[in-house]
Amino acid sequence: MSFHEHPGDAPATGGVSGTADSRSHLLNHRTAEQYRTAVADGVDRVAAKLTGVRGPFTGISPEQLAPTVDAIDLDRPLGDAAAALDELESVYLRDAVYFHHPRYLAHLNCPVVIPAVVGEAVLSAVNSSLDTWDQSAGGTLMERRLIDWTAERIGLGRAADGIFTSGGSQSNLQAMLLARDEACRIVQKNSETELRKPEILPKLRILASEVSHFSITKSATLLGLGADAVVTVPCDRDKRMSAVALARELERCRREDLVVMAVVATAGTTDFGSIDPLPEIADLCEREGTWMHVDAAYGCGLLVSKRRHLLDGIERADSVTVDYHKSFFQPVSSSAVLVRDERTLGHVTYYADYLNPERMARKRIPNQVDKSIQTTRRFDALKLWMTLRIMGADALGELFDEVVDRAADGWKLLDDDPRFEVVTEPQLSTLVFRYLPPSGATPELTDRVNLHAREALFASGDAIVAGTVVDGSHYLKFTLLNPETSLDDIAHVLDLIAEHAGRYLAEHATPELSHRRAG
Ligand SMILES: *Cc1c(COP(=O)(O)O)cnc(C)c1O
Repeated sequence: MSFHEHPGDAPATGGVSGTADSRSHLLNHRTAEQYRTAVADGVDRVAAKLTGVRGPFTGISPEQLAPTVDAIDLDRPLGDAAAALDELESVYLRDAVYFHHPRYLAHLNCPVVIPAVVGEAVLSAVNSSLDTWDQSAGGTLMERRLIDWTAERIGLGRAADGIFTSGGSQSNLQAMLLARDEACRIVQKNSETELRKPEILPKLRILASEVSHFSITKSATLLGLGADAVVTVPCDRDKRMSAVALARELERCRREDLVVMAVVATAGTTDFGSIDPLPEIADLCEREGTWMHVDAAYGCGLLVSKRRHLLDGIERADSVTVDYHKSFFQPVSSSAVLVRDERTLGHVTYYADYLNPERMARKRIPNQVDKSIQTTRRFDALKLWMTLRIMGADALGELFDEVVDRAADGWKLLDDDPRFEVVTEPQLSTLVFRYLPPSGATPELTDRVNLHAREALFASGDAIVAGTVVDGSHYLKFTLLNPETSLDDIAHVLDLIAEHAGRYLAEHATPELSHRRAG
């Protein structure tokens, strides 16, 4: 039998002895046709799903789904792609959460653009690894071009550089690592006595707003600073870092002989989409000689939008986090960390004889591992590359502008609706609000009603919304990232929330409250 004649004939039991059968699954010159068919089959299933789903979710519970997944014997392979794809229907595709559905309104996970998915298909089949030139070649140069392109959009200047990462959390971690090591280097340079790094670390502080992303605190812990190294700076009413409060904290740290290794400005907070006052923060950082990091994981889409001005001041950052897999409509994962001064990336440069010996750096062989905290690394950049080459940056920006416009309209809708209370007018595409029971409800009941409405909606599968806590109370949250979500969709989901909440009140509220509601 030739290798590819009967790809479906692998025995169902574990005892595959013939090398021919195992080898028939390798992607190579002999199996190109089989690859084409198998992947096309997978694509067909997803395409059928896209046209067929009725809601973002089926509402299935972990208890209902787990037996189906558990029943599969992973030691009894099905042998061919078609059979596995059939099986996949019930373990995954049927009940997956679909972000392309217009009533998925929960997290910062976007519907993806087709050009990027084409890139994804290509990059995983070719399987370049971007750690070294000798595992990637052109991919290395393309990633570098995209880093330069992004740095230019930000305005970081000619010495800028950066690297693709797995996500905003990793980008923030790397930025904090570079800031930490820069701070140590400067302290060591300026001190008369010879200070060792372990002596400096306890003095280091990171200043970030009260609504900054939790990955900053996690980074501080991972970097040996401890969670207490993150000093919380209060926000104004619009959930933007107060520059006055930041100045006060910087002053206090100086008085207490602490070293502020970084100020983290968030350009698009995860909960509120609020953008910290970047120019004021940049002024303060400049005055203090402090590293300014801008976490634009969410707001980076503004770089290509007609609202670019909302990011004014970002060009003064020392490092920037961007998540293309949020507001650039890219599939997970696609993110980058950018730095103003390429030399700072040297803090993650380590040479290994087997991979990237120092002599290669001297010969200017572009080994991206020299700039990364990962080693083997996906060619995620290809997705953005295909996106820019097929649809272009302006088209991406239009998509993001559309959801920001929609959020503004949604805010008006909520603000005019007596059933709801909305927290802040959005700068980006999030809406944080809660259902208000009739007067007389305790704060505790209000919390329970909102928690219930979110859960009931999720279980119904009709829509998915997120939740968060504001000043100790439970709120609901829409994160709009789908331009297909209409104002009617938003209104419809609000009605569904009110229905679930009303039903809960009727069943659980005091007789007095439910009576008043009925009347
Ligand atoms: C989403 C987000 C992150 C984390 O990014 P991941 O890609 O999920 O790791 C960091 N910061 C902000 C502001 C975010 O919104």
